[in-house]
Amino acid sequence: MGKFDSYKIDLRGMREVNASYDLSVDNEFFAHIDGPEVQKGKVQVVLDVHRMVDTYEMSFVLDGTVIVSCDRCLDEMDLDIHTKGQLQVRLGADYGEQGDVLIIPEAEGVINVAWYIYEFIALAIPMKHVHAPGKCNKEMSGKLNKHLLRSAEDEDFGGEAITFGDEADEAETPVDPRWEGLKKIINN
Ligand SMILES: [Zn+2]
Repeated sequence: MGKFDSYKIDLRGMREVNASYDLSVDNEFFAHIDGPEVQKGKVQVVLDVHRMVDTYEMSFVLDGTVIVSCDRCLDEMDLDIHTKGQLQVRLGADYGEQGDVLIIPEAEGVINVAWYIYEFIALAIPMKHVHAPGKCNKEMSGKLNKHLLRSAEDEDFGGEAITFGDEADEAETPVDPRWEGLKKIINN
């Protein structure tokens, strides 16, 4: 059995108009998917699938906690995740997209949602995430502040708020990271 087999949803084989799945994820899931934003966590994922004339509406509700690294002191911190995601899927000749609608081959009729779940969680993480006031690793944040002050001479790091521009990030990743993730899953 592949690592992500339990996230395969058989759309073509749906007997009823509605179906519901518990696809909760844990540390093992994050370790296997190996995404850049989250390595650990526990998130309850409920997926409801509604079959329409020629489209499947997949609605995800995600609630849980992930462990990320604090922007200020780099120690681990818990971050609550309460988010929703939506996919619209249609069966077709081959893998593809039509606007917002994903196309999967009718011959297979199955979609693996593991990477989409990861994406919904990653998208729910705010750009800046730091410990509550006073909870940071003081030694580490002190060192980092000094380092940043030294390296900020010709950059604008205004105070403790460290932000990274969206545009710069995008320019450095010419390959859509979603495809990298999907490839990983498909090759598993
Ligand atoms: Zn911190």
